Amino acid sequence: MNCPNCKSKQNKLVDIIIDSFSIVREKTCIQCHFEFNTIEEVMSDAFLVHKKDGSRQQFDREKLIRSLLRSTHKKGASQQVIRELAVEVESQIVSSGNEIDSRLLAEIVMLKLRNLDPLGYIRYAASYKTFVSVGEFIDEMHEIVEASPQIPDEQLLLLID
Ligand SMILES: [Zn+2]
Repeated sequence: MNCPNCKSKQNKLVDIIIDSFSIVREKTCIQCHFEFNTIEEVMSDAFLVHKKDGSRQQFDREKLIRSLLRSTHKKGASQQVIRELAVEVESQIVSSGNEIDSRLLAEIVMLKLRNLDPLGYIRYAASYKTFVSVGEFIDEMHEIVEASPQIPDEQLLLLID
């Protein structure tokens, strides 16, 4: 992978972190000293997701990543961070068994997304309708707005579409 900052091919491997699902290589660009990671995914035994309608589907990491990218705000989490989040969610679920309820899966994703990208979190939660009530949704919005004073009002208005 070229340096995301200056596109140089010259980089130095700083560290390598391996778990059951991914191999993360931390690199530093020799030219501009920018630090970046590359992630290689290790195929895991797929687990099943129980859908609300009673059907079961194999977990699809790419699908999760696509839905997260749709939810996250442009200035929020980067694609790299989202991929890491998806791998993290997957490893957490696999370590607890090989089947999961789709609602629990959405909740685990949301908890992680909440710290990473509050706006993306609200969009994700809204699109998956995981809020029990409108009141709960509004409470969450208020909490996030209070915790994130840097979010301009016009960005919050975009959420109500
Ligand atoms: Zn560079």
